Amino acid sequence: MKVQAAKQRIMLEVAEVDADLAKLRHRRANLPEDAEIAGLQTQIDTARDDAVRADIAAEDLDREYRRIDGEISGMRTREEHDSQLLNQAGMAPKALSELQHELAGLSRRRGVAEDELLELMEQQEATTAEKSRAQAAVAALLADVERATAARDAAAADLDASIADLTKRRADIVVDAPDELLAVYDRQTAHGKPGAGLLRQRRCGACRMELDRGTLSAIAAADEDDVLRCEECGALLIRTHESGL
Ligand SMILES: [Zn+2]
Repeated sequence: MKVQAAKQRIMLEVAEVDADLAKLRHRRANLPEDAEIAGLQTQIDTARDDAVRADIAAEDLDREYRRIDGEISGMRTREEHDSQLLNQAGMAPKALSELQHELAGLSRRRGVAEDELLELMEQQEATTAEKSRAQAAVAALLADVERATAARDAAAADLDASIADLTKRRADIVVDAPDELLAVYDRQTAHGKPGAGLLRQRRCGACRMELDRGTLSAIAAADEDDVLRCEECGALLIRTHESGL
């Protein structure tokens, strides 16, 4: 294949623009803000779980509180009833002693229940505090997400604009590129291989492979308009004054 040397060199511009485009697309697909937002989302999920757990614990504690509170009022009612009986005259000594015994037992059990209630109230306070902490954490994290999203959108818009500019520049360059070389180039890149590279310092600019002496002399002997390919990566091997031939 023969293509005018100046036309061959256009392929280097295409390769350069494509390399820049690939970098921009990589940055666009891997914005640090996206990773940050995903991390924040995980933290939000955790904080929301904490809030739900605190809610469930609060319901359990409330139920327990009502149960013990009910027991205490039941005991108070019986204590009042027993006290009234004690104050009635004419009670047999044995019945009197039983009643006093029951009253003492009731009072002791009520004391224990009241201590439990105090402990429960402390737990309720702790649960309320935990729920507030989790809710505040969610609110703060949501604000962080909003800030990160704005930064992400701005960065994405900048990159999209650069990609659009470069895509237009590529189209302008490609207009002047020879079709037969473009076909080779596109076939290469479609297979994830470099399309074109500059021969410089005995190396293929696309894959960096050093060419052996025999290949180099063959290249030096080739006509200026001969189309050369790198034996290693298949890229169009373009010669310029930098090639040192
Ligand atoms: Zn190569």
